Amino acid sequence: MAEKIMYINAAQFEEEVINADRVVVDFYSTECPPCEALASKYEALSELYGDDIKFIKIFRQENRDLAEMLGVTSSPTVLFYDRGKQVGDTLNGGIRRADLIRNLDALIPDERVSEIKSRIKPVHTECDVLIVGGGPAGLTAGIYSAQAMLDTIIVDIALPGGWVTTTHQVSNYPGFVDPIQGFMLSHQMSEHAKAAGVKFRPAVDVTGADLRKKQIVVDEYETITANKIIIATGSSPRPLGVKGEKEYRGKGISYCATCDAKYYQDRDVIVIGGGNSAIEESLFISRFARKITIVHQFDHLQANSMLQEKIFANDKVSFVWEHEPREFVKNGASVNKVVVEELNTGKMKTLECDGVFIFAGTQPNLELFNGDFSLDQWGYVETDDDMHSSIPDVFVVGDIRSKKYRQITTAVADGTIAAMAIAKELETDGAGV
Ligand SMILES: Cc1cc2nc3c(=O)[nH]c(=O)nc-3n(C[C@H](O)[C@H](O)[C@H](O)COP(=O)(O)OP(=O)(O)OC[C@H]3O[C@@H](n4cnc5c(N)ncnc54)[C@H](O)[C@@H]3O)c2cc1C
Repeated sequence: MAEKIMYINAAQFEEEVINADRVVVDFYSTECPPCEALASKYEALSELYGDDIKFIKIFRQENRDLAEMLGVTSSPTVLFYDRGKQVGDTLNGGIRRADLIRNLDALIPDERVSEIKSRIKPVHTECDVLIVGGGPAGLTAGIYSAQAMLDTIIVDIALPGGWVTTTHQVSNYPGFVDPIQGFMLSHQMSEHAKAAGVKFRPAVDVTGADLRKKQIVVDEYETITANKIIIATGSSPRPLGVKGEKEYRGKGISYCATCDAKYYQDRDVIVIGGGNSAIEESLFISRFARKITIVHQFDHLQANSMLQEKIFANDKVSFVWEHEPREFVKNGASVNKVVVEELNTGKMKTLECDGVFIFAGTQPNLELFNGDFSLDQWGYVETDDDMHSSIPDVFVVGDIRSKKYRQITTAVADGTIAAMAIAKELETDGAGV
């Protein structure tokens, strides 16, 4: 199948890449889940584009000098070349098929693109259980479902793992006496699901969903139909809706300490929020930042007592109580001022900073399912005790579900219940087992 992919080393780079016409290069490593996620997409695209574009793979671990010279610092990284010149995007991490296709299309004439596109055949896949979202809830449902011998597929728009992947340390997941790094916990969960027999469609675009037909379309060409569907798409940070927030997101405003705290070494940071996440993440940011100012709407924190004890003992941290942000102001490259309002008096004041982190709750990831579900007053999906939603054969688990407490343990509990209920129902129906 991979006939149109060439494996080369650094010594062959000049001849096979620089002196060639159009080339795509994948720097990969072993024991690299995102590299595995890319491999099948790369192979399938080499079959389609391989007559027009040379598909090359280079083992990064054995060709480090070349990789470094090209600015390749992580695996996988995909680079595109047109007659010796690097062009297009540098893709890395959870690489989407759509991004590969966009860059490949840009290398060849439009008429060839049309011919190639006409050869893409729609694929129809059937399975017992289709899980949309591979965070703790979806992965746990996958483990139980596959162990019940049900043919199970997990589809995710990113790499599996969910929020936990970007949580710096998890100290409350049973079985880990010492805090475990979030990415390690999510890695273990994904590997467990893989070992149980779950099939993955990672880093895809979910381009269609018809839950009443129990169907999801992936990357515009694969339609997956299932006996039962589990929705486990979680939630995303809730924006504050404050002036400047949308504009400066990623330019001084962040929602992820694990991702961005490192950029604030010896800098002054403002954190908005006072719940568990805000305090946990502030503690992490304090490893890097010189000073942290926590702006909170109440006169006390909502975080648990252990976290409160730690944050009050941290001499880098100060608090601005009973204030809310009203505007983020940018000067040059980054946000450097936050205008806050004192809630009791309506008085405004301006706080100086080098960057802002916002941890002000979450909202359910529901866009894909436009209004299909019965929702609670906050917009989360209502289910019964077995995780049935209002749509027949569609279960909803994890943070997207209407419930009081959203934690990894409650997400894995939901996933367990849905998969066990499904196994029972399919056994009774005589289907899938
Ligand atoms: C900063 C922070 C720190 C936290 N710390 C802790 C902690 O220490 N301990 C703890 O117990 N809990 C913690 N939590 C809460 C915990 O992370 C969540 O409760 C848990 O991850 C929920 O799991 P989930 O599977 O429901 O959703 P998620 O973890 O959000 O996973 C959802 C998955 O669905 C995918 N997805 C989204 N949309 C789509 C779509 N349209 N199609 C396909 N896939 C999609 C996402 O890519 C993701 O992989 C923290 C949360 C945050 C935000």
